[in-house]
Amino acid sequence: MEIDKRRWFNGFVSKPVALPETREIRINETYRGYAPRVNASAIVHQLLSSVPAKYLRGLDCIVLTNETALPRSGRIGKMWSRGRKFKKSDVLGLYHGRSRSGGGSSPYIELRVDKIIASLRGAFLWVPILREIAFGHVLFHEVGHHIHRTTRPEHSEKEDVADRWAGKLNVNFIRKKYWYAMWFIVPAMKVYKFMRRRDWI
Ligand SMILES: [Zn+2]
Repeated sequence: MEIDKRRWFNGFVSKPVALPETREIRINETYRGYAPRVNASAIVHQLLSSVPAKYLRGLDCIVLTNETALPRSGRIGKMWSRGRKFKKSDVLGLYHGRSRSGGGSSPYIELRVDKIIASLRGAFLWVPILREIAFGHVLFHEVGHHIHRTTRPEHSEKEDVADRWAGKLNVNFIRKKYWYAMWFIVPAMKVYKFMRRRDWI
């Protein structure tokens, strides 16, 4: 029996990627005296559109900003995380949960785009998949806090929970966007993780 190779091939290549139900989340850009070197809004939009809607429920928006645009209280001083204090000026992203005082604002995520971009070196800034992974790591960590708070409560250190979600959602994003290149990406990721562990990059 003859197989119509061309048809099979085309069918394979143009195979539609089944996307789960997703919801549009507003992305607000509020920079001051700053214009990002990359299209941060487009990157965040793509990353978000890979997240199943159930995990984004209740999330109001993503605010893309830079340090100068923040109020003094967001820039100066220290904050606690994992039982340690660190400088607010080192923050790349924050999850603002629903305020407990009641009647407060809806949960939202703040990404400090200038800090994220400043943390990227060489290829991580200019190779799309690498910069998406880097942005994804920050964004999905904060989405992880949202999921932990609203959908999947668990008793563990909240930063560890958020980190685990960051990993899962990043892999999910890469699988959806780069499904045709997974044969290359999987080993490349292993090399990357190995190099990170050794602090080579
Ligand atoms: Zn965190």
